[in-house]
Amino acid sequence: MRTGLTEDLIARVLGAAPKYTVAELEEKFPPRNLPDGAMVTRFAPSPTGFMHVGNLYGALIDYKLAQQSNGVFMLRIEDTDTKREVDGAVTVVKNAMHCFGLEYNNDETYGPYYQSQRKDIYRSVAAELLRTGHAYPCFLTPDDMERIRAEQSSAGFATGIYGEFARDRDITPDEITRHLDNGEIPSIRLYSNGNPNQRIFCKDAVRGSIGFPENNEDLVLIKSNDGLPTYHFAHLVDDHFMRTTHVVRGEEWLPSLPLHYQLFRMMEWTPPVYIHTATLDKIDDETGKQRKMSKRKDPEANVAFFLNDGWPTDAVIEYLGNILASGYEEAKLKGAVKNFWEYEMKPKKIPMSGGLFDMKKLEWWAKEYIGAMAVSDLVKSVTDWANEYGNDKQKMQVADTDYLTRVLAIERDNPARIRKDFITWKQTLEIEEFFWDDLFVPNTEYAYNSDVLNAFLETFDITDDKDTWWNKIVAIAEKFGVKNGDVAMNLRVALSGRTNTPDLYSIMQVMGGTRVVKRIKALV
Ligand code: GLU
Repeated sequence: MRTGLTEDLIARVLGAAPKYTVAELEEKFPPRNLPDGAMVTRFAPSPTGFMHVGNLYGALIDYKLAQQSNGVFMLRIEDTDTKREVDGAVTVVKNAMHCFGLEYNNDETYGPYYQSQRKDIYRSVAAELLRTGHAYPCFLTPDDMERIRAEQSSAGFATGIYGEFARDRDITPDEITRHLDNGEIPSIRLYSNGNPNQRIFCKDAVRGSIGFPENNEDLVLIKSNDGLPTYHFAHLVDDHFMRTTHVVRGEEWLPSLPLHYQLFRMMEWTPPVYIHTATLDKIDDETGKQRKMSKRKDPEANVAFFLNDGWPTDAVIEYLGNILASGYEEAKLKGAVKNFWEYEMKPKKIPMSGGLFDMKKLEWWAKEYIGAMAVSDLVKSVTDWANEYGNDKQKMQVADTDYLTRVLAIERDNPARIRKDFITWKQTLEIEEFFWDDLFVPNTEYAYNSDVLNAFLETFDITDDKDTWWNKIVAIAEKFGVKNGDVAMNLRVALSGRTNTPDLYSIMQVMGGTRVVKRIKALV
């Protein structure tokens, strides 16, 4: 076994003596006291200001695993890339988590949950690796590394800092002191003991056991420029001390798995169970081919899109839930479960290759979801949306709750025939615009039969029940020798500007007699 650095040198290399020993950290973040089988998961976004729908999908898996096992779901902010930081980016994440109902439980014991606030913890673990000889200070400059890379490329070697190219891996204490005296700040690198000619077997809960060549790269653990950890090192430290049992992350991390196994082994810690998720794909409108959802091309790749346009967030979750647990839709249609939270998701069944995200299917989920809502809940959702995201017109539509309730209650009383044309809160208000005089656009193209309209005005009484009202329409049709439907169509277009609406009698009842008469009179 290599000998590591002395405590004095460790303190100099890290800029300060480590605050904790590993034993102290183990005590500070004790194993969680949870029932057997409880899963501890975390959503760990880098705050970039943009939340991809694929992130929401991953967070849903995290949340669901914790929820169904009576575990814990955390939100960890991976803000170690100081170059990429954006103001307000954390708010974007937290707001999305709240709106989609993925509430996290960041128990103080295991915090802080911003990686930028965990420097002392990372340094303390780095100190341990320096002490045991599993890590070393590296004084290579960016120029040195560029030179090494160029040499490797021209000689046809794999690029990276490994083996003979890792100039400082066997640096002596005297050399370290000399560099430090010179004012140089090192990065801390892993002293890799891997041999790429040997294989390491790593487990993924969906893919099973996967063989990889062992890692021989001396990867950076702590960066020299800001003293912050790399993703790899932060993952090791945080997921160990936060007592994460299941790490759900994008499949782009799969190639790093041998490195992560290696790190856990060096610390003699048990690695978590890994679940690498496939990207969300869509069918390209132009080519008809399946491809990744793109931040640039697809507005729906951005979680904010669903909030701005007022998609029922629960329906988005239900649909994503069905992508990741393909049996869910059937179980729901059979009535075995009421919603995704009641459905038991099997980690093994999470799709291994691109799950398909199809806006048409989402529309179906949204229509079904809204169709099953009580009127009062629908009114509340539409109102909350309009007040937060709507324009002046939409805010006006929701100002009179009583009128809005009567408008939205049309065709919702018979459970067997609930209207299914509402998709989003925004589109719901758009469909119903004609109920508001300021938004109503009379249809001037339609060839109205003014005899019919006049006859209607003569006998119309808003207090008529539906049968009486209908009998009057039948009488008018007979009188002018037209079909009943023609009379109704004349009235429908006159009142709504449209040829297709829900139940005409209900529309008149909601509009009220004065408005009905006024709209028809304007046309005759
Ligand atoms: N910050 C990483 C990412 O956004 C997290 C990966 C993980 O969940 O471990 O890709």
